[in-house]
Amino acid sequence: MKKVDVTILGGGPVGSFLATILNDMGVSNVVIDRDLIPYQLPRAIVMDDEILRACYDHGMGEWLQHNTEPLQRGDFVGPNDEVIIGADIPPVGLQGVPPVVVHYQPELDAMLRSEAEARGSTVMWGRTVTHMEDEGKKVVTTLDNGETIESRWFVGCDGASSWTRKFLGLQLEDLRFDQEWLVVDAELHEGAVVDLPAGVRQFCHTDRPFTFVQGVRRYRRWEFQVQDDEDTAALNTEQGLWQLLDGMISPSVARIVRSAVYRFHAVIAPVMQKGNVFLAGDSAHQTPPFAGQGLNSGMRDAINLAWKFSFITRGVSTEKILDTYSPERVPHVRSTIAHAVDMGRLIDQLGGRVSHGVDVESGYGGTRPSPFIEAGIVVGDDARVGHQFWYHPEVSKAVQRDGASFVLVTEVPVDIPVAFGAVPVVNVVAPETLGGAFAIVIRPDRYVAAVASDVTELNECAANLATYV
Ligand SMILES: Cc1cc2nc3c(=O)[nH]c(=O)nc-3n(C[C@H](O)[C@H](O)[C@H](O)COP(=O)(O)OP(=O)(O)OC[C@H]3O[C@@H](n4cnc5c(N)ncnc54)[C@H](O)[C@@H]3O)c2cc1C
Repeated sequence: MKKVDVTILGGGPVGSFLATILNDMGVSNVVIDRDLIPYQLPRAIVMDDEILRACYDHGMGEWLQHNTEPLQRGDFVGPNDEVIIGADIPPVGLQGVPPVVVHYQPELDAMLRSEAEARGSTVMWGRTVTHMEDEGKKVVTTLDNGETIESRWFVGCDGASSWTRKFLGLQLEDLRFDQEWLVVDAELHEGAVVDLPAGVRQFCHTDRPFTFVQGVRRYRRWEFQVQDDEDTAALNTEQGLWQLLDGMISPSVARIVRSAVYRFHAVIAPVMQKGNVFLAGDSAHQTPPFAGQGLNSGMRDAINLAWKFSFITRGVSTEKILDTYSPERVPHVRSTIAHAVDMGRLIDQLGGRVSHGVDVESGYGGTRPSPFIEAGIVVGDDARVGHQFWYHPEVSKAVQRDGASFVLVTEVPVDIPVAFGAVPVVNVVAPETLGGAFAIVIRPDRYVAAVASDVTELNECAANLATYV
């Protein structure tokens, strides 16, 4: 019987990313996937700066520099193609990387699989699971070849129709969005001259809304809303596709790489953990893609779990830290999906099709507040708490000390307050990042855990944070 810390079912992007960063944190793992190679059709196309920063910090920056491109702009345009809301995206944002990049998902998935293997994961491609038993102190997993694996935890990263979720009997809550869209990926011919928008644009047209995304290199993505009375089979033919693309591209400038009809829906598992078994990625939540957040959210799940597993295997925390996974991730994902759903509704609304009363500020570049960690290992009501800390190279290094550590940012060097107890904490002096605070406590996933205005408050925050480990 093979013994590891974590069994991961699903070597898609979320499972492979989780395996990769667990290796960096010294947590042994096995990844199982029924497919010998990654899924070959592109789905996710944009990656945000929180995930980009995490990938850079875990040594994947060089690959990303060569295989992604910054997204330059996002717009919602009305029936006459007039910009209703939109913004240019700066080349570098608060995480020291572009705020959004585009990628080609099959390449990203392949890179993550090979990083997981190269960094020490046991990979089992072409295998699946027939049974899993959570025995309290360990999980015993049986594979389709009869082999068994004993692990401390099991993570189901097995996608939308998750075996793990069904095996556990965890339900998905319907967040009330359900539309059919036809997704078309095209590749421009070398040297082709086209007149297409820069970045991502939601065409809020009255007869048929559609999305355009400028993909990496010569890839371009269109997503067309299917209308109630339409036959998707007729739309999704060579002739039907070129008709939809008429006026934008033609066979003389591009080839169609693939097309598929998707149901864009919004669902979430209100609980992402049962005992020693966890859900991460599409197994736990699915979102309409208007905000480009499905995979980004799944990778956030992986980051959230990874440092908590590592704290336990290093003996600096008890298992109770894992009770914070669902309370931290579920509201965050819920809020992320709510924004994407509102974007979908806004598309219909701006096209004059139906009024949902959605604020136009939910569009690209709008002022809608971003999700944050509302409950869990966060203390106090400073506006920075629960949000990502801005990029600082020393902080990025320090959060990876011994695999994963908290960081205490101060104006001058300080002794780590004893109130932190067993929590591993590294002091970083960075007065320029304090914004008037006496100290900022940053979690290993670079979320702000607490902001203290004086030493007394810091000691109180430290004592509070120590209760979670
Ligand atoms: C049109 C479209 C556009 C999108 N755009 C974006 C975007 O721009 N940005 C973004 O962040 N997200 C986007 N997404 C969402 C993104 O593609 C998904 O969220 C992401 O692929 C989920 O990754 P995952 O690893 O959780 O699941 P998957 O990618 O589905 O991987 C699951 C893996 O588990 C394996 N598996 C499943 N069941 C078993 C089993 N029983 N045994 C063994 N192996 C199993 C599968 O073979 C697969 O490899 C988009 C999705 C669509 C459809």
